[in-house]
Amino acid sequence: IDIPHVTIKSICCIGAGYVGGPTCAVIAHKNPHIKVTIVDLNAARIAAWNSDELPIYEPGLDEVVKSTRGKNLFFSTDVDAGILEADLIFVSVNTPTKIKGIGAGFAADLGYVESATRKIAEVAKSDKIVVEKSTVPCRTAQSMRYIVSTPNLFLTHLGSFSTNTDALPTRGSQLEANAKPDIHFDILSNPEFLAEGTAISDLFYPDRVLIGSLDTERGRSAAASLADVYAGWVARDQIITMNLWSSELSKLAANALLAQRISSINALSAICEATGADIDEVSYACGLDTRIGPKFLKASVGFGGSCFQKDILNLVYLSESLHLPEVATYWKQVVEMNEYQKRRFTNRVISCLFNTLTGKKIAVFGFAFKKDTGDTRESPAITLVNYFREEKAYISIYDPKVEESQVWMDLAEPGVVDETEVIKKQVSIAADPYEAAAGADAIVICTEWNDFRETVLDYERIYASMKKPAFIFDGRLILDAKKVSEIGFKVETIGRPRTT
Ligand code: NAD
Repeated sequence: IDIPHVTIKSICCIGAGYVGGPTCAVIAHKNPHIKVTIVDLNAARIAAWNSDELPIYEPGLDEVVKSTRGKNLFFSTDVDAGILEADLIFVSVNTPTKIKGIGAGFAADLGYVESATRKIAEVAKSDKIVVEKSTVPCRTAQSMRYIVSTPNLFLTHLGSFSTNTDALPTRGSQLEANAKPDIHFDILSNPEFLAEGTAISDLFYPDRVLIGSLDTERGRSAAASLADVYAGWVARDQIITMNLWSSELSKLAANALLAQRISSINALSAICEATGADIDEVSYACGLDTRIGPKFLKASVGFGGSCFQKDILNLVYLSESLHLPEVATYWKQVVEMNEYQKRRFTNRVISCLFNTLTGKKIAVFGFAFKKDTGDTRESPAITLVNYFREEKAYISIYDPKVEESQVWMDLAEPGVVDETEVIKKQVSIAADPYEAAAGADAIVICTEWNDFRETVLDYERIYASMKKPAFIFDGRLILDAKKVSEIGFKVETIGRPRTT
């Protein structure tokens, strides 16, 4: 971009998670002249990033990290040193939904963003460009700006986002004031659009890179510095600069629209089941309309992952605090439809299995929230397994990537002592799909791993080992129902009418 700006030589990323790790590994890989240090308070996570067993599974991530680590890519727990050395700092910390207090269940907990920002303000000894990478409510950059402007000011935990901005500086002159008079902090918004499971290819070939900045000379100059980093591999016309608040809101909006498509197709899947229409055919027909397009129109047992629900609830909370209750209700319905889909699918399992799961064995195929990731955050499988437990079924879970310890953590109620021992009386983890299905009354496919397709698994062997009638509930539309039913299975597919 054709305005005077600083060339970035050193980057620090605070937060070595699903976003900070892959994103900054790719930045280092594509910009060999920039030193990139990814820091985290979680020592175990950093140790894993420095080992042969990376803390997250993403296709292609190993190659990127291993080709760059130790050259211009470093992982460290020394947050202060990372900040001190960097010209540009990504804040890529978690922004979970608040569990307790006002806004609980909806608002984003901005405590991690606040403490990372405070740390930057406290430690910095030279100018810094601070980049919001985390997904945050609209106008969070203003709070960050305020924090770096007043490092000695006692601020109580920001907790949830407040739209009461009276206390915050709003005018450009104040926004550009700095508590450390010799040091300038510029705040940019640069939301991340990668999807887990395809993170590396999404980062290599992004649809767009958004950079939001204040519309001031300094703001535009900081944006130009960050744009240069991405220009290491992204075409200039895909790097879009805009105002800070548009950039922040665009991330929430994109996730809300994606989740809305899934809830819309899932709502239609219920109508298909009741009428004899086939949701795959309906999706195909709608997707051929170029105004609609085919992506994200796959019916399923529900969306999961750490972002969709959280970001929509974030939008709901934001709408409520802006006194827009109808807007809040509109978006909330996307999440409610998702919950309904999981209950509806469970009811179908119960109803097909002669209205009772008591004492029956259910094989759950897949525990990750989608294929090609080991991430289980908000996975529909967690909800389904809990419903099956309530119905007194025995459950055997198989997932190719999810660690056993993760399953126990996901199923345990927070704070309930020894719950895992109780859960283990009803739930077991299988080493492979054959073990999970042996002696089972039904298989429930929760994750669309390719491993579960009839072209990969020996369903004849599985059928022979199961109780009869042997059911398969395909919650992800991955099986050729005709082929599998020829083996003898009763196949029940989401978005298609009941066969039994
Ligand atoms: P994560 O929980 O995997 O990683 C966050 C990391 O930040 C953790 O390792 C934590 O220890 C570290 N951390 C927190 N506070 C810190 C501090 N003060 N100093 C140093 N380290 C600190 O989260 P994630 O999935 O990487 O998500 C990060 C952000 O990116 C969230 O706002 C999320 O909404 C957003 N996002 C996530 C995805 C996704 O697919 N996971 C995609 C786009 C955007």
